[in-house]
Amino acid sequence: MENTAPQLDQTMIAEALRLQIAFGVDETISDAPINHYQAQKPKNPSPEVLAHQDNARDQGAPESANPPPSNQGGTLHGNTHDAPSLDLSAQRVFAAPQQAPIATSDAHQTEKLARSAQTIEALKTILEDFEGSALKRTAKNTVFNDGVVGSRVMLIGEAPGREEDRAGKPFIGQSGQMLDRMFAAIGLDRTNLYITNLTPWRPAGDRSPNDAEIELFMPFLKQHITLAQPDIIVTIGAVSTKALLETDMGITKIRGQWGIVTDYNERQIPVLPIFHPAFLLRTPTRKAESWADLCALRAWLDKGLAPHA
Ligand code: URA
Repeated sequence: MENTAPQLDQTMIAEALRLQIAFGVDETISDAPINHYQAQKPKNPSPEVLAHQDNARDQGAPESANPPPSNQGGTLHGNTHDAPSLDLSAQRVFAAPQQAPIATSDAHQTEKLARSAQTIEALKTILEDFEGSALKRTAKNTVFNDGVVGSRVMLIGEAPGREEDRAGKPFIGQSGQMLDRMFAAIGLDRTNLYITNLTPWRPAGDRSPNDAEIELFMPFLKQHITLAQPDIIVTIGAVSTKALLETDMGITKIRGQWGIVTDYNERQIPVLPIFHPAFLLRTPTRKAESWADLCALRAWLDKGLAPHA
């Protein structure tokens, strides 16, 4: 058959690459190209996931377009008794012609799964085996936690970035180093902090996780909090603050204002929202507010001050 592929000159190739980058393709994930129109046999009955939304991720941006996910009233408990069983055949299927079926899991299913974990290790294993999110397809590693389980302070970020994805650890890139400096200033480090994110996999192109992804992973986070039993949670940046406190308030307003979440054991835990270090790196003039928030955290830890005092 005659080759009808257009002849591309260097300028066109450079333009095409620029376009890919604008679409969020910032790295190759395998050596050989994949022909998605060729039938692929699904790996064990593990259908996969959510359509990606293309809102570019702006880590730590002061405000985010994502409204909070739909768990009620700032509490972390939910009704599991009517959660449907994990029958993947009944799920929605998004499939390109002749492609492996892609199905979503929903928050009822992830709640049932998450609450079956009796230990943090078990929760990690469940997440590593979870096939209900498309984020896993493009991620290199599951980024579950860092620091010490049992720490009084639990930090909750947004999602892994490229470096975290490569290393399998949260907050180790540029903003992670900034985070370390911020907490070191009040005598905290990864030997007395516990760190996780809203999602365990990096959204390709470093966009923020979308509402559906946040809702899907929220039960895992709730169970993570329930098992980790921190005295206090610090939400890092706009996205995790909105998700956990179910608020539409922007981070510039809500930072430094204590909130409450209730875990699956009905335990109430104070939450302190702070700016994301990526935001502070871009906007150093806001560092003074962060310093005030960190001092409030230090005072609370030292004196057991009531969060709303
Ligand atoms: N930003 C986050 O919110 N989490 C990480 O782990 C890294 C960067």
